[in-house]
Amino acid sequence: MAKVYFMNDRSSSIQTSLVAKMLTLFDAADFGRMVHPGDVVAIKLHMGEFNNTAYLRPVYVRALVEKIKSLGGDPMVVDTTTLPYWPFASRATALDYLNTVARNGFTHAALGCPIVIADGYIGTDDVKIDLPEGFILKEQYIGTGIALADAMIALTHFKGHPMGTYGGALKNIGVGCASKRGKLNLHLGGHPKYGLNTRHWMGYRCEKENCPQYEVCLNLCPAGAIVHTEKTVEFHREKCIGCLACVGVVTMCGVAFLPDDYFDATAAAIADSALAAVKAVGGPEKVGFINMALDISPWCDCVNFSDRPIIPNLGLFASWDPVALDSACIQKAKESAGMPDSLAMAKGVMTPGSPKFTACGSFLGISEEIQPNVGQKIGLGTRSFELEEVAVPEDATPFLCTQIPAGLKLGKLFAKTKDLFPAGGFKREEEVDIEDMRLP
Ligand code: SF4
Ligand code: SF4
Repeated sequence: MAKVYFMNDRSSSIQTSLVAKMLTLFDAADFGRMVHPGDVVAIKLHMGEFNNTAYLRPVYVRALVEKIKSLGGDPMVVDTTTLPYWPFASRATALDYLNTVARNGFTHAALGCPIVIADGYIGTDDVKIDLPEGFILKEQYIGTGIALADAMIALTHFKGHPMGTYGGALKNIGVGCASKRGKLNLHLGGHPKYGLNTRHWMGYRCEKENCPQYEVCLNLCPAGAIVHTEKTVEFHREKCIGCLACVGVVTMCGVAFLPDDYFDATAAAIADSALAAVKAVGGPEKVGFINMALDISPWCDCVNFSDRPIIPNLGLFASWDPVALDSACIQKAKESAGMPDSLAMAKGVMTPGSPKFTACGSFLGISEEIQPNVGQKIGLGTRSFELEEVAVPEDATPFLCTQIPAGLKLGKLFAKTKDLFPAGGFKREEEVDIEDMRLP
């Protein structure tokens, strides 16, 4: 049974700030034991798609960076280039990635350490990891910048996800540590049964004369697999690498169907890829996991919008075991009531006990249990967990931004500053009728 450390999301003091709670969990789990002086420590983070708003705020990362520096480590914030996933990719090259996340507030200046796009400019700088124990993937490709780190903290925003059904620790490292080559692998590009190359295609259904997407559709496929002719739209399936740029377009118009079990198999592959990431960094003693179950949107931070959360915040969780950690979050989500007027209400899963992500994260009601079940099957972790609620420390000192009290810091400045408090006081009414203002 794996231990999962937990703190709720209530806050009323500097020690109970969610930033402080994240650091308290870091200490409770003893993640500091993997940081030795001079060690390069990767902080694996999803920094949000263009116009997504639910991703973790940079302040959490900054605090973690400071913590790792205080232990003598050399932190870097890492992520990898993405597949296009839709026609207008915004993180598919390192250049696009850095521009997008700077807009989201993630810069060297804000974080206090560099951001490293670990798989290089276009996503081919990677290390191949053999996965004989994999459920569906037997090899995987992990970004070199991650594979060469001495240790890693996966700081994860826990929420729903359209491919994995939910997005937690397994998805953060399974998808997020994979190079672009690795993402093509885990999204099953070219797979003989589950790959998009196998999908049923009905080009005769194309109504390009009436189609508002026609101009986009003409330039949709970076691999040249979709070709418009005079009368139809052809699919050259042997060229399809499974980059997903087309899927929301040609599936929505009814020209293409998804292969059976595509999402289920992808969810399984995410867990395989997570194992590859742990192996690449150096094994389970080299990777710690923190799940921030806040702003639990039905879809992930990879989409360019963020819907109303489907459940209230669950709190903060930490563990050395990503399978146990995600299992604990899934269970808490299941036990929770749904959020009024959210997708949970529209999908009829407002009552405690109903699986929220199966209903709200997935397009097709895919089970939210696949990732952790596969993770357990391949030996990445266990679904059996013991939740340990961590107490709030009584001493606020570690979380203060300065040890100098206001009298010392500002007293001499106030003494020198003229007219801070005007002689004779401010111009104000002596008394007002507040009672009137209390009325609705
Ligand atoms: S989106 Fe569909 S209907 Fe429109 S041009 Fe493309 S294939 Fe044809
Ligand atoms: S046809 Fe295949 S390679 Fe081309 S855009 Fe679609 S998924 Fe990508």
